[in-house]
Amino acid sequence: MRFYFPDSQDLVSPTYDFLNDEYLATRVRQRDDVYAHEIVAPRPYDGILLSKAIVDPADSRSAGKYAASQRARLYRLGVRRFFRLPDEMDSLGDCGAFNYIDEEYPPYSIEEVLDFYDGCEFDAGVSIDHVIFGYVPSGAEDDVDPAWKKRRIISLDLAEQFIGAVKARESSLEPVGAAQGWSPASYADSVVQLQKMGYRRIALGGMVPLKTSEILDCLVEIESRLDDQTTLHLLGINRVDSMEKFAEHGVASFDSTSVFRQAFMDERNNYHTANDTYAAIRVPQVDGNPALKRRVLAGLVSQAEVIALERKCLALLRDYDKCRAGIEETLSALEQYEKLVLGEGVKKKSYLSRYRRTLEETPWKHCPCALCQEHGIEIAIFRGTERNKRRGFHNLTVLEAKMRKLSFAGRRTGEAAQMRRTSG
Ligand SMILES: [Zn+2]
Repeated sequence: MRFYFPDSQDLVSPTYDFLNDEYLATRVRQRDDVYAHEIVAPRPYDGILLSKAIVDPADSRSAGKYAASQRARLYRLGVRRFFRLPDEMDSLGDCGAFNYIDEEYPPYSIEEVLDFYDGCEFDAGVSIDHVIFGYVPSGAEDDVDPAWKKRRIISLDLAEQFIGAVKARESSLEPVGAAQGWSPASYADSVVQLQKMGYRRIALGGMVPLKTSEILDCLVEIESRLDDQTTLHLLGINRVDSMEKFAEHGVASFDSTSVFRQAFMDERNNYHTANDTYAAIRVPQVDGNPALKRRVLAGLVSQAEVIALERKCLALLRDYDKCRAGIEETLSALEQYEKLVLGEGVKKKSYLSRYRRTLEETPWKHCPCALCQEHGIEIAIFRGTERNKRRGFHNLTVLEAKMRKLSFAGRRTGEAAQMRRTSG
């Protein structure tokens, strides 16, 4: 089972100074910063997924994640050298269909997409698809929203043109057909048609909102129509607990950012362990927190007081980690800072009881990953991109370890990939 990590230019600076919250003056972002696969071992994923929409947004109003100089560098170096991918990792391109979900028709031409894949020298690329928003398990063609039917036809039509263009150009790209649907039968029919066009690898799109049982229903139906050589990729799906079952029905790869993003997007499940999740301890930077900054500017709280409390919290957390401070005094400082950040009279959720659990159990002390070993409690502090992304990278290592423990007896997951994973 291969796991692809979707890129959004998530790098960290290995020389970041956590005590003073500063970058080295000599840091050159592109040269010195590192990706997750360069800073933790074993490498937490098997490949990178990169969407055209991130590099070349179709809508000129939305800024892509890539600056013009980065984009030029990506095209100049190719995706492998740009990401400094080791030989055993590979690259998968797609269009990022969620970025144009509101459009009536996908905004990219076949030529543009293939120029992106070929220009960046991707190993494999997904055909242009159009996401269907909805799931009606028993919905026949004529019962469902006509827009769904249309989107499925658009996706199939573009897939046919795409594989034709790959062949016409004699591109070395492995074409991956995108299947859309709203039910087991419609997904299975899309897969059948893609196989007829010549696709041997098929990506299932639009399944992110589905329940695991619904995904399984689709996979069972698809499997009954699947050729022996065809493998499936689940776009945007990460359900570790069900991966063995998914593999039994032909799934050989998936991609997801969810464990990474939970590090800083989730309300409470920020730091993962093999069996549990913890809330990271929020010590926002005064400068980096717009609400707090507004309150300082409005004269509601004094800047000096806020900065003093922020420093006190960080110092106590570090001391606590070294057993030089007690949990009660640490929590009491966090409580004072939280009150300042949230503001009096505003009824917002306190995190204190969650912080107590995180501090009592100090999960980072039991984590073998290089980041927890090096940074200790800093990894559990919710603050700024360097700590938050490192926590995300840590979560990826936890996912990798979980995946490594699974056994994939699926008929199509490939013994070679399986051996590669177990040999680490
Ligand atoms: Zn760790």
